[in-house]
Amino acid sequence: MAQFGVIGLGRFGARTSLELLDLGHEVIGVDSDEKSVDALAEYLTHAAIADVTDEKALKELSLEECDVVLVAIGEDLQASLLCVLHLKSIGVKEIWAKATSKEHHQILSKLGVKRIIHPEEEMGIRVAQALNYPMVNEYMSLGHNWYCVEIDVNEDLNGKSIEDILPDDLEHFHLLLLKRRDEVTANPSTSVKLEGNETLVIAGSLKALKSMAPKLQ
Ligand code: ADP
Repeated sequence: MAQFGVIGLGRFGARTSLELLDLGHEVIGVDSDEKSVDALAEYLTHAAIADVTDEKALKELSLEECDVVLVAIGEDLQASLLCVLHLKSIGVKEIWAKATSKEHHQILSKLGVKRIIHPEEEMGIRVAQALNYPMVNEYMSLGHNWYCVEIDVNEDLNGKSIEDILPDDLEHFHLLLLKRRDEVTANPSTSVKLEGNETLVIAGSLKALKSMAPKLQ
């Protein structure tokens, strides 16, 4: 269990807090708006109404004990930046922050924020990917144009073998898992016959994964 601080309990901050609590972590939630704090107070480990541009008020919240503090203030650039500065000076170990513009991102990066999140942009990319490759459930970028993806096997592929759907470029591709109902097989043989109800987890270069897409339809 870890301890997190979430500053700004708007839609993004509130949702992140509830998910962290569901995952079994402790969350200190802070917002200057009483209504936003009241709406979450019964779930949060500790809830505080405070203006985070006021360093003194921030100091009283013991946020330096958190593993990570997320600054989820997007619209008010000045409040977001001042808050990050104050968190640094009270000794918070790791800061993540939401950014709403390129300039906001640049300054947060200069201030040493570990991870800068652009929720709308990141969600937009995910939605476009899902529309482009509907068979892809989940994907994770591994860097250098490599991805790990989870795909659902289409029922029209019933009777084909895994070999039939592999990309041409096997050098830049790994089949990691096959899931059929509640049975999971690691490194499955490519001769396995598909039923059309499986989930595959694969890793590969974007080029290799793209060449596989037509075989999956
Ligand atoms: P969202 O799109 O997630 O709702 P917003 O940027 O609109 O994001 O919301 C940010 C939250 O941060 C709001 O609930 C707002 O009350 C809070 N907030 C803004 N400025 C401060 C501040 N100086 N101190 C504490 N909370 C603040």
